[in-house]
Amino acid sequence: MTHKTLVAGVAVDTRHWIGGERVASADTFTDVSPVDGTELAEIARGGPAEAAAAVAAAKAAFPGWAATPRAERARVLHAIADGVEKRLEDLAIVETTDNGALLRSHRRGVMPRVAHNFRFFADWLLTLEHEDFETRGHTNHVTWDPAGPCVLITPWNAPLMLATWKVAPALAAGDTVVLKPAEWSPLTASLLADIAAEAGLPAGVLNVVQGLGAEIGDALTSHPDVRRISFTGSVPTARRITASAADNLTPVSLELGGKSPLLVFADADLDLAVDLAVEQYDNAGQVCLAATRLLVEETVAEEFTRRFVDKAARLTQGDPRDEATDIGPNIHERQLEKIDGFVQRAVAAGARAVTGGFRLDGQYYAPTLLTDVAQDSEIVQEEVFGPVLTLQTFTDEDEAVRLANDTRFGLAATLATGDRARADRVTERLVAGTVWVNCFFVRDLKAPFGGSRHSGVGREGGTWSFDFYCDLKNTVTAP
Ligand code: NAD
Repeated sequence: MTHKTLVAGVAVDTRHWIGGERVASADTFTDVSPVDGTELAEIARGGPAEAAAAVAAAKAAFPGWAATPRAERARVLHAIADGVEKRLEDLAIVETTDNGALLRSHRRGVMPRVAHNFRFFADWLLTLEHEDFETRGHTNHVTWDPAGPCVLITPWNAPLMLATWKVAPALAAGDTVVLKPAEWSPLTASLLADIAAEAGLPAGVLNVVQGLGAEIGDALTSHPDVRRISFTGSVPTARRITASAADNLTPVSLELGGKSPLLVFADADLDLAVDLAVEQYDNAGQVCLAATRLLVEETVAEEFTRRFVDKAARLTQGDPRDEATDIGPNIHERQLEKIDGFVQRAVAAGARAVTGGFRLDGQYYAPTLLTDVAQDSEIVQEEVFGPVLTLQTFTDEDEAVRLANDTRFGLAATLATGDRARADRVTERLVAGTVWVNCFFVRDLKAPFGGSRHSGVGREGGTWSFDFYCDLKNTVTAP
């Protein structure tokens, strides 16, 4: 039986990658394309045995990789980035076929960013230095020691982007990795294993295991040899992972969901505000950072809504491989049912769909804007993870801040205002890991990234990533 499947003309190995070898499982699961429902591949369905084998491989490879000089680790990471760039077109088409996000974004934004993830953390590693300091004539010298095998668990909405945002700093830090991609988008992680091997990453330094959630996940996160767990995904899974990691006191980094606000003040450039709002439909609304709650100052709400509906109507929805498409499909039938359930319950509770509010043919959902929503309602409080926005109005800054902060999340917030002083005042009062003022989604890997409250635990990016993936050591030397 062959374990290579052709996906959009690209050969993808459907087995795990453990200790530098392809490993099959007795069972498989079916990977389906959200674009047209095609069954793409039968993927190895790992469980506790595969989890144990992958952690053992990562543990065995750890001393060698940790002892590899920084410059050599950085060289290998750059070679992986070269490989990503060489196979950019393959990665882009496979990712689009697998998760339904736009091909043009994968080609021009996401996959170049994947390569950049490796280059950035390779270069950052070489600049990582703490200044020595003195205590009563003794010197303090702080070093970042590699921590050990890491388990990295990632979601389907930006599969390779989010995986490499963890893999790159972990490898740069000198750690070894077991990556578990989401079962709805398992393919590009397998291609990454090929690319890393070709780039000369030693066997066992990066392992990729496939499987269904807890079936393999519990064995990974409860393993005593795992030194770090970094997870991006939903709050319920985060709770379970944290509980599973507790026995071994394994440090956990959590990047979770959001219900972020976009605050539009009357002094804003209204066209810019509308552009920012419509941008929240990107990736069919499957973006953790999406500002799904539009909070608009009452005096401009009517005009804002009119312009918003006009602009939203001009979005092209359809096949994500088509250059003209703005919004592709949602990932899975189950996700569509969930999205529609949120919308129908909101409407039953009195919300009004100004635009959208229904499913389209195939796996598509009409971009939706709901008004007349109560602050304590499910649609305002819970993450939908689809192209569904709500609009509420406010009369002054205090009310805007109160509404903005009144959910259990704290991932991001976006402000549209023409008044700098107001932007400063409001920003200071917002609970959010990232605040964008008159812009959205501008991200620098140097910046700390993460959320407050139920949006996450910890920060990644730049030195913050190394703080997480390393054991910090202070050496005090007598004069
Ligand atoms: P999910 O929690 O269902 O799954 C995420 C991953 O966890 C998958 O790989 C899954 O197989 C795995 N998993 C499930 N149960 C597990 C267990 N018990 N042990 C170990 N692993 C387990 O999330 P999802 O539906 O794939 O992703 C959507 C969520 O991710 C949304 O809430 C979204 O906001 C969030 N997200 C957050 C960020 C961020 O950076 N903050 C980025 C993207 C997505």
